[in-house]
Amino acid sequence: MTRFHPPGAPVAVLTTQPLDRALDYRAPEGGVEDGAFVEVPLGPRKVLGVVWGAAAGDWPVEKLRPILRVLPVPPMAQAFRDFIERSAAYTLTPLPAMLRLGLRAPGLGEAPGKRRVYTLGTGEPDRATAARAAVIDALQSRPGDVFALSELADMAGVSSGVVKGLLKSGAVLEQATPRDADYPTLDPQRPGKTLAEDQIAAAEGLRTSVKSGTYGTTLLKGVTGSGKTEVYLEAVAEALAQGRQALVLLPEIALTGEFLTRVEARFGARPAEWHSGVTQAERRRCWTHVATGQARLVVGARSSLFLPFRSLGLIVVDEEHDTSYKQEDGVLYSARDMAVLRASCEGAQVILATATPSLESWANAELGKYARLDLTSRFGDAVMPKLATIDMRDEQLPGGRWVSPTLQRAIEARIIEGEQSLIFLNRRGYAPVTLCRACGQQVACHQCDARMVEHRFQKRLMCHQCGETAPMPDACPSCKVEGKMAAVGPGVERMAEEVTTLFPEARVAILSSDLFGSARSLKAKVEEIARGGADIIVGTQLVAKGHNFPKLTLVGVIDADLGLQGSDLRAAERTFQLMRQVSGRAGRADKPGVALMQTYQPEHPVIRAILSGDEESFLREEADQRRAAGVPPYGRMAGIVISDTDGATAFDVGNALARDITPLAAIGAEVYGPAPAPIARIRGRHRVRLLVKAPRQAPIQPALADWVGRIILPRSTRLSIDIDPQSFL
Ligand SMILES: [Zn+2]
Ligand SMILES: [Zn+2]
Repeated sequence: MTRFHPPGAPVAVLTTQPLDRALDYRAPEGGVEDGAFVEVPLGPRKVLGVVWGAAAGDWPVEKLRPILRVLPVPPMAQAFRDFIERSAAYTLTPLPAMLRLGLRAPGLGEAPGKRRVYTLGTGEPDRATAARAAVIDALQSRPGDVFALSELADMAGVSSGVVKGLLKSGAVLEQATPRDADYPTLDPQRPGKTLAEDQIAAAEGLRTSVKSGTYGTTLLKGVTGSGKTEVYLEAVAEALAQGRQALVLLPEIALTGEFLTRVEARFGARPAEWHSGVTQAERRRCWTHVATGQARLVVGARSSLFLPFRSLGLIVVDEEHDTSYKQEDGVLYSARDMAVLRASCEGAQVILATATPSLESWANAELGKYARLDLTSRFGDAVMPKLATIDMRDEQLPGGRWVSPTLQRAIEARIIEGEQSLIFLNRRGYAPVTLCRACGQQVACHQCDARMVEHRFQKRLMCHQCGETAPMPDACPSCKVEGKMAAVGPGVERMAEEVTTLFPEARVAILSSDLFGSARSLKAKVEEIARGGADIIVGTQLVAKGHNFPKLTLVGVIDADLGLQGSDLRAAERTFQLMRQVSGRAGRADKPGVALMQTYQPEHPVIRAILSGDEESFLREEADQRRAAGVPPYGRMAGIVISDTDGATAFDVGNALARDITPLAAIGAEVYGPAPAPIARIRGRHRVRLLVKAPRQAPIQPALADWVGRIILPRSTRLSIDIDPQSFL
């Protein structure tokens, strides 16, 4: 229940500052209610915070400092405050750090007023310089967007004076626009696409759930191209018709373009967007209108789960199996799991949409915790691609080449037909290893326990752990012999080179996340390819994420064995999902597709399961193995990483933890380690890992908090706890 605190009453305020609790203040003139966004004094500073209930009461009221002002935005709803508290408790994150995720909007509390924005004009610059060209390029790369002065200058890498200098000629326009303009109204009554029979049934089921106005989660499983989006848009329509808000999470912001177009076709206008590709002004607009309830539908990345919804009725997690839903630094959380938690706080429905469910979601559906709806037929005339392996033991390949003659012939046939082929290799860069032919040393990152990966486009070596780059050396860093450095193994850039040599006439496009300076340029490239702007696409797992390429009829997987060797408990599941997702890219429109997987072990159970297409038996088999081992989803896990610039200190802390596991033993948990983390050094910090395994129903969080709370960490040591770890690095 929301409480009102009269003027002068003691209240607790939670700020985003790294303190261990809320602080007490006096309510300002006019009083204040729970959830109000306020500005309070903290030492000599003013900081933002949220009224978090009545004061703890251990300070006399007259000694409390008053709240300075209440921000002119709607207070944070009780359901959202509950979510912040519960997600903090689940992930063992301090409350202020969790709240910070909910306050990521610039200029909160500033008056709306007018602001000056800059757009592309039609005039020609009176004098052309490289700096001026950079401004024009930046504006042209994001047509239709408006920018604040400093933002545009930053994007172009120039001073704001350069932007101003372009105003006189009309090459750049300056306008005063009202801040935070309303979003256009979405019309749920507009007729949607004509749906197939199984789509109609699924859509009806989802509409009924949304109408109930209560919490529930549905796994919506449909093969690639079965029209899942059309189906869940019907659930969105129902939420809108009920006067509630909806959120659609996408794993990859390059997908938003296609999604926005579909929303516009269905509801007559575009929704609000929230992700890293959105300008600062748009962020503030989105946050503000989500808070008032004016923004009815948001499409966004995982961080949009922390928007201040007024009345959230539905969350869709599209491609729910996607690993990028796990936030791997800062606050460690799974957006899929937090979506379920938020919905249960809000009395909202969740739809987990996927062609290849995660074992977690599949198991929850088996247990009856989640409802399940299946779409079995591909939409329209499209049929499932034909899957086959290419046994690499039988292929004649010269050294330094990876496209087998069989795959090469298949690509040739597609080019003749004017169709697209996709060459898939889940490895960024040119070559994974750079080796000295004189002394045999590999080039390693000097800060990490990792090899440097050559990125030939950027003419640099890069560490995929810490992002450190170095120029490609002429001489070996170890033995100083010149001209002996050699690339070993293929990366996606090297594949593009090979494909260009094999098919000199073909238009080759590369899709790899690091080749695009911005999300927008990646989005533009994806759209160009979808229109037929390439004959051969060479891509990493980026291409597996639901892009729709209608002319694509062949997928060639360069190394289907790549994911199978890992020690990760999800290695088989991930390989299965990835191969299914990638092969599902072929033949979506009216032409049947073929997926060919190059492998040295065609008899491997995972490869055979992929070929057979019998997903349910693969999942059941995988589930049996995990159940027997007591690992997720049939057991709980937590990863503890201790890092220090000094390796011995990190190990001492790990050993101290391992010596006394009383709180964990009390809940039946086991501790493994300490051991060097699989990547034992990142950014110069040595990393030691412990793994905690507990029975499924065990209350693991309080036990962990108690356990690590018994250790006093040296100042230089960091300890992070990852509940339900997805990667074991
Ligand atoms: Zn050497
Ligand atoms: Zn590194």
